[in-house]
Amino acid sequence: MTLPPSVLRAHLQRQAIELSWPDCDQTSFVPFRKLRGCCPCASCVNEMTGVRTYHESDTAEDVHPQKLDLVGNYAVRITWSDGHNTGLFTWDYLREISDRIIQASS
Ligand SMILES: [Zn+2]
Repeated sequence: MTLPPSVLRAHLQRQAIELSWPDCDQTSFVPFRKLRGCCPCASCVNEMTGVRTYHESDTAEDVHPQKLDLVGNYAVRITWSDGHNTGLFTWDYLREISDRIIQASS
């Protein structure tokens, strides 16, 4: 089970979400637009086929989170400026995205 992030903060200036994890000394910044394009909900990914139907390229340049709501102790629900709020980003999933960014930048 993935531990909750030690830092989860939206930086409007930087247009990115800052993430750090208790067992990792690296911080990652996930661009809002990228994260919106990774939304795992049923209207962004076809539940039957698992094929993504909503992409980063479908997303407005200036998309940003309006609200971050913790869901239990396992996920965060993001309400986006485009009105979309059905995606639950589990710690597991955020960790995967964050690790990918750390790898890409090292
Ligand atoms: Zn979605």
